Amino acid sequence: MLEKIRYYKEAARIIKVSLEEEKRNIKPNTRILDIAERIEQKIIEEGGKPAFPVNISINEVAAHYSPSLNDETVIKPRDVVKVDIGAHVNGYIIDSAWTFNFNSNLKELVEAASLALEKAVDTVKAKVRSGKIGEVIEETIKSKGFKPVQNLSGHLLKRYSLHGGKSIPNVKTFFSHRLKENEVYAIEPFATVGKGYVKETRKYLIFRLVKKMEPRSKLEEKVLNYIRSSYNFLPFALRWLEKEFEPQLLDLVLKDLVKRGAVERYGVLVEAGKGVVAQRETTIMVTKQGCVRFI
Ligand code: MN
Ligand code: MN
Repeated sequence: MLEKIRYYKEAARIIKVSLEEEKRNIKPNTRILDIAERIEQKIIEEGGKPAFPVNISINEVAAHYSPSLNDETVIKPRDVVKVDIGAHVNGYIIDSAWTFNFNSNLKELVEAASLALEKAVDTVKAKVRSGKIGEVIEETIKSKGFKPVQNLSGHLLKRYSLHGGKSIPNVKTFFSHRLKENEVYAIEPFATVGKGYVKETRKYLIFRLVKKMEPRSKLEEKVLNYIRSSYNFLPFALRWLEKEFEPQLLDLVLKDLVKRGAVERYGVLVEAGKGVVAQRETTIMVTKQGCVRFI
């Protein structure tokens, strides 16, 4: 067995126990800020590190929502809540997501995303085309009467890198690559009752350092050093930095770093037709005959 499999299995175990402990709180009237903070805290207690901030995206919000420190959002009755969790051990990242559904009218939507994931995982093996997996996801979701979100996709995971340069689409695509043995991928079908694609909004809660840069001020130097030493090139939450720096000054520094290309920001992604979105995600390693599913 490859040495790295042990790290992946450990990261998967850490996510499982972190979510297991928090599950009972993921329900109406709970503040999503508290859910995110407790899951991230548990990941660290268990010996891992968050690979990215816990995303808690509700209803038509598809992804990239991680509450800031002053976020008072609580889960409401009939919300559809996606919880997307990433943890790494020694740089080996597990990326996984579940939908907690409190709307009895949308049970089938959530089931469609789950079924699409199961069928996609069953399709994985070395030399299969990524477009074939997209086709399986698309057909499964459409057969249940919903649309896949076409501009969100699964992705190759590399050590300390969340997006390793190859995708697993959620729809059939003409151009695609063949999966290789021992590659690790996150597969993440999104199903919606809306238009089937997301738009990026100008609300920025998650950022990532993309290149090193000479700071222009003492504060900028402090912020950059903090990001580099704490998160390296993995995504971080605005909330994490809000605990260390004065929020208004931090906002200015981040805007400047984005403008100069040192940091990239991920706008909250909302379904184009404001349709509710369900998501399910797992991480697998490709083998000759199929795959190893970690979570
Ligand atoms: Mn994810
Ligand atoms: Mn992912």
